[in-house]
Amino acid sequence: MWPFILWLEALMNTLDYTCVFGVDYQDARTKFLDSADRVAGRITTYRHPDETGPSGEELAIDVARLGSADAPRQLVIISGTHGLEGLSGSASQVAWLHTIAADALPPDTSVLLVHALNPWGFAHGSRTTENNVDLNRNFVDHSERYPENTGFSEFAPHMLPQDWTPQAFDQLNRAIADYCEAHGADAQFDALTRGQYDHPQAINFGGSKREWSNLTLEAIAREHLGAAQKIGFIDWHTGIGEWGESFFLCFNSDGSPEQDQAVKWWGEARILGQRPLGLQRPNYQGLVFSGLSAFLGERPMVGAVVEFGTRGREMRRALQLDIWLKFRARGDSPKIRMLREDMHDAFVPVSSSWRERTSAQAVTITDEALKGLSNW
Ligand SMILES: [Zn+2]
Repeated sequence: MWPFILWLEALMNTLDYTCVFGVDYQDARTKFLDSADRVAGRITTYRHPDETGPSGEELAIDVARLGSADAPRQLVIISGTHGLEGLSGSASQVAWLHTIAADALPPDTSVLLVHALNPWGFAHGSRTTENNVDLNRNFVDHSERYPENTGFSEFAPHMLPQDWTPQAFDQLNRAIADYCEAHGADAQFDALTRGQYDHPQAINFGGSKREWSNLTLEAIAREHLGAAQKIGFIDWHTGIGEWGESFFLCFNSDGSPEQDQAVKWWGEARILGQRPLGLQRPNYQGLVFSGLSAFLGERPMVGAVVEFGTRGREMRRALQLDIWLKFRARGDSPKIRMLREDMHDAFVPVSSSWRERTSAQAVTITDEALKGLSNW
């Protein structure tokens, strides 16, 4: 009897995922704005000046403020840094909005939800921006020499096959295997993933200038976080970790007081010594985390990229598919449609159980951050 009752209880507490997930950018945006409005969130919209969605719809970063803009403690929660992962990030924000009352925030604490940081990628179903820039590698100093990544040039020539066939991966797979054999799996993962600034038609390209989303995040920090003295940070992502489970990438430096805070909020097991895909964490360059930290100056920020796992190491193929669809796909054949569906499902699985599990975890992780922030 007990297991049945527990199962029933779990079912009754499950959020209706169809109310928190959007089917596309426009639907997600509407759900976000409606949910924020229901708890008296105040919206500021930053319209994209040049780009529109696939149906000509407006693209924007929407910011919702809950609580007082003068609060000394503020939690910033971002979705859609990697465009299409925003379907999950948006649902994480909306799920949390569904669970709170308008006046339920801890004292002196306020929340700033940033919806669709990369709205072009969100609307067009790509990880990257309108310039094929990985926004999470774009926050470097573009007036300086770019961080070097010579290893990536071993992979770049094989990144973009003419046609998308099983044989087309062979060359890239061989280059990756050769690199692994020569330098080890950790070094290979680092070279492929840390970010590169030389190959604009390949994955993890950090760009050649600050993207509109990068400039807009600075404006958001200036206009909304002026009073914040202590800042919490969550940037929702997908693709790393076990299927449907959260995986944390905390970028506070090892041994820092901010890292200690992150451990208090979310636990040692999730914060310390994380190994994405079982490998050493790459030396990521140009992260949103670093960008926002710089915009805040001396004020301390504690937080993490929080991923929800999907296909594990199989994701490499989806990353390559993103580039192929952008630069090689022509027209709207059944094959192209099938590949686009696969791409979406790789980053935000259609599965109801994945969506229920991840939105429930998102609520808990957000509440833990809020509690931690108010005790900091
Ligand atoms: Zn991501």
